[in-house]
Amino acid sequence: MLKNIFLKNRKWRKMLQLRDIRKNYITASETVEALKGVDLSFRQKEFVSILGPSGCGKTTLLNIIGGLDKYTSGDLLIAGRSTKEYSDRDWDVYRNHRIGFIFQSYNLIPHQTVLGNVELALTIAGISKEERVARAKRALDRVGLAGQYYKKPNQLSGGQCQRVAIARALVNDPEILLADEPTGALDTVTSKQIMDLIREISGERLVIMVTHNPEIAEEYSSRIIRLLDGRVLEDTNPFSAEDEEAECREAAAIEAAADAEVEAEPKKQKKAKKEKAKMSFLTAFKLSARNLISKRGRTVMVGIAGSIGIVGIALVLAFSAGIKGYIASMQDDMLSGNPIQILETTYDLNALTGMMNAEVIDEIIKEDGRVYVSSLVEYLAEMGKNVETLLIENTITQEYIDYVKAMPKEYYNAMILGYGMDLSANIYTDFKESASGEAQNISVSALTSIYSSILQDTKFKDYASYISMLAPSITQMPNNPDYLLSQYDIVSGDMATGKNQIMLVLDSEDELSDLLLARFGYYTQEEFLEIVYKATEEDYNEDIYRDSFAYDELIGKTFTWYPNDTAFGQGKFEVMPGMSMDYFIHNYNSEGFSKDGSIELEVVGILTPKDSVNFGSISSGIYYTEELTDYILETNKEYGDEFEAHVKAIDESNSTTAAIMNYYFPYQYTYTFDKSQDGTLTDDEIDVKVTGYVSPAMTMEDMMGSMMGGSSESTAFDHEGMKERVLRTFGMIDLANSVYIYPVSFDDKDLVTMYLDAWNEDGDITVNGTVYTKDDRSDITYTDALELVIEMINTMIDVVSYALIAFTSVSLVVSTVMIGIITYVSVVERIKEIGVIRSLGGRKKDVSHLFNAETFIIGLLAGLIGVGFTYIISIVVNLILEPLIGYARIAALPITDALVLIALSILLTCISGLIPAKSAANKDPVVALRTE
Ligand code: ADP
Ligand code: MG
Repeated sequence: MLKNIFLKNRKWRKMLQLRDIRKNYITASETVEALKGVDLSFRQKEFVSILGPSGCGKTTLLNIIGGLDKYTSGDLLIAGRSTKEYSDRDWDVYRNHRIGFIFQSYNLIPHQTVLGNVELALTIAGISKEERVARAKRALDRVGLAGQYYKKPNQLSGGQCQRVAIARALVNDPEILLADEPTGALDTVTSKQIMDLIREISGERLVIMVTHNPEIAEEYSSRIIRLLDGRVLEDTNPFSAEDEEAECREAAAIEAAADAEVEAEPKKQKKAKKEKAKMSFLTAFKLSARNLISKRGRTVMVGIAGSIGIVGIALVLAFSAGIKGYIASMQDDMLSGNPIQILETTYDLNALTGMMNAEVIDEIIKEDGRVYVSSLVEYLAEMGKNVETLLIENTITQEYIDYVKAMPKEYYNAMILGYGMDLSANIYTDFKESASGEAQNISVSALTSIYSSILQDTKFKDYASYISMLAPSITQMPNNPDYLLSQYDIVSGDMATGKNQIMLVLDSEDELSDLLLARFGYYTQEEFLEIVYKATEEDYNEDIYRDSFAYDELIGKTFTWYPNDTAFGQGKFEVMPGMSMDYFIHNYNSEGFSKDGSIELEVVGILTPKDSVNFGSISSGIYYTEELTDYILETNKEYGDEFEAHVKAIDESNSTTAAIMNYYFPYQYTYTFDKSQDGTLTDDEIDVKVTGYVSPAMTMEDMMGSMMGGSSESTAFDHEGMKERVLRTFGMIDLANSVYIYPVSFDDKDLVTMYLDAWNEDGDITVNGTVYTKDDRSDITYTDALELVIEMINTMIDVVSYALIAFTSVSLVVSTVMIGIITYVSVVERIKEIGVIRSLGGRKKDVSHLFNAETFIIGLLAGLIGVGFTYIISIVVNLILEPLIGYARIAALPITDALVLIALSILLTCISGLIPAKSAANKDPVVALRTE
């Protein structure tokens, strides 16, 4: 029966047998024959010493037995099985389970604790933490190191280090212990202790020890094999076939007895031992983490260096996102300053971008020695063509206005219909030359001309004519008081309502301009002159000069609006001194006016923009209600016949000269001006005669037309356009020619634009019960300036961001390469450790895992530092910028971007670490261990 077990079970065959083992080292210059045919068999339990002079091949033999080095020829039988066909995997398992190595130089891993070093073999085998610790402690207790578990190798003596190494070799309970000059570096006393320990161990297993010390060999071992020059010279206790059989029988008997005692458990244990050595990635991770922590200073430096590129990109992304967020936060605010506009002429902004990209003139191939002509004519023609395609004429009809007015009210906050009116010729205000003077009631236009004329006498006379352009005028306000109150505070009085009430709107500095106040008669002429003197750096009278008004000085002032037939009419106009002509003139002074159709306007309140509002829907100036607009359009129908007849007559005469002359309604005014300040005149007061015109705003085409005198078709004076502008300016046309729509919010702006787009699309449209087919309607192009601006800004931010990211990527590449180099340095530094791991049965993969885990951690660290640093910078930047721009998140790295950057950092460092990790894995363990 015993024989049976013996035959069936390979395990009972010879456990280690070397057959004609040869080993050649091939170097560049020669081939070294380290072993020249070694035949040896070993018992399951014995203490073998291999003796021989230095260089005779002892270490080589031991490494071959331990599976660290490959034999060149011959065969090594393990438990009767040839290792000729062994794979790397088989060797790893063999080393991990059957072999324990002890080296002369201990080969402990310096950054691991004593316990960690001992655990390593178990870690590689993939054994659980608890079991690992328990077994490692047991092994350490066994070698007399109880209580020294958490010391680092550099805190131990040489003897203690060797004990740790023995514990490490034993922890896996190997069948074979290989020791390469274990006492070579120890003093005699310590050597003795270590040798006693090894002898004790040899009671349980095969111990093969290399030494060049014959005394130690004689004293401790049961068998001495002498090597010389790669050959066995002597074997004091060879292992014969009979011996082997006896040993096998003995072993089988013990096994059978054990089997009888406990059925299941031992088998299970045997099975567990057959498991393959494997270290999980997580374990590799922990080992690397421990290594990195032990070199924390360097690790942090590497992390910081690696994070520079990430910080660069993260900052760009943070600002890009922050600025976009800032713009988004201002969208609603900006919307009130940028309503959707429908105008009679507008620009096709798509064509504009197209034009910018268009190639203007074909390239021609130029010969040397000739002067080529650059064609300005062609350039002009091209420009003209482009301008034409840019300009869009909208035909705004009453139907369209009705359609726009029928837009659901919830789409917009306010809508202003514009008629092209200018009320300054029809609004009359009280005006005094000085505080004590007599008030005259004259038109705002006239007052504007007077002040222009005063400015004509100053140093800056060239700019005097801009006065009416610069000075804000009187305008219609949005027809939604609640909407206005969301943007403006009433500082005094009330919001204007109804046709009789008007109000003042201050700018964000709570100011109104001097020109506005002067035009509307808030200043006396005397006071205005002081302003001029001060501005022109002449002496001025501080008692008269005023730079502020009390609220009640502004509120309560009244104005009168007169219809056209009252404000204009036939009169005499002095063409030159002593020569008057009959003219249709502007009655600048209201003395003797009929009150018919006129209306009193009273300033009832003052508004100022809220601090939180950057773009209000209205700018500073004087505002009237929609009701007044309606009243004016209505009243001029009744009290504007004469005016209309006059315009018609000019139109019918079809004379350019008549049109130019007669569409400008002149008036003459004489006032007294104290020119003493000028220096050229004496203290005399002089009379100044002012000739003013009331006219519609000239367009570019009007000016060209009048200058060229209509000499050609294209420059012909636009009678029709001029007539219409005259009528519009003075409120004679009740068909709106512009619409301003203030959507409820930026996000809901689409509701408005979709409604407006529907007009241009196919299909019928019903407005107030009337159906309009597509043919009835002409396309209307609206302008959504805000959308365009925001789109442009966002595109710009994107472009700048991409450019900056491309730029900062360079530093990312640099840090990636650097991390690769540092990993490589780390590989070189840890070459011993790599050898140890391999000698303990660690796979190539385990080694590469170790370094990949290390770069992973560094990548993670660099990413975290980079992102964390960016967030810190962001906080600081936001704290600094918030008071300046009123927005707290101008640098705001989105979480998703942060995660992507961390992942990118890990990816890049891992890629950079792949090559060093691979080279580490491919290091020959023998070479690695021999390296000092
Ligand atoms: P011992 O351990 O007995 O001192 P070794 O086994 O280390 O001797 O070396 C045996 C011989 O093989 C020596 O001549 C040595 O120089 C040579 N040798 C060992 N390793 C290598 C190697 N990797 N490449 C070339 N020659 C080697
Ligand atoms: Mg040696």
